Amino acid sequence: MSKLTQRKSLDYIKKDYVRTRTMPGSWYLSSYKFRFNITHHQPMLEKLKEKKLIANQCSGCNRVFFPPRLVCGQCLVKPDRWVDIRDTARVATYAIAYLKNPDTGQVEEKPMILVQHDGADTCSIAELAPGINVKDTYIGMPIKAHWKENATGGLMDIEYYDPIPDDAKDIE
Ligand SMILES: [Zn+2]
Repeated sequence: MSKLTQRKSLDYIKKDYVRTRTMPGSWYLSSYKFRFNITHHQPMLEKLKEKKLIANQCSGCNRVFFPPRLVCGQCLVKPDRWVDIRDTARVATYAIAYLKNPDTGQVEEKPMILVQHDGADTCSIAELAPGINVKDTYIGMPIKAHWKENATGGLMDIEYYDPIPDDAKDIE
């Protein structure tokens, strides 16, 4: 941890809000209907069959979205261009998941990663290759998509991400 972040965390004081009023009430979640529109994923899913990645781009701000977005949240317009992106990426951030193996009962550490593909401005959640030690995972780590042998045009065509050599000069 750098000196700066260390100081910041020491100075942090959680604000304690005084509870002024409590209202009785309930929120009937089951009365809501959710509908997910993923029709804008279709061109990307088609390309997955060829083990290629495409993203959509907003003509307002030029941001490239992978996975594709229905609407650009900044410009509030539909991204109207499709662009090719690489299947290489970087670990934008990661979290350690503690998963209990149902067979052995043992708790295993597994890094869950946020992936930013080269050429994309947004991220997606994925897994690293099995057996990668959490301690070897870092932000900025170069990775590459590990494709399923027979891609079917589904979101699981990328099974996980393999680490690739890091050419950064300061890594040692
Ligand atoms: Zn935009």
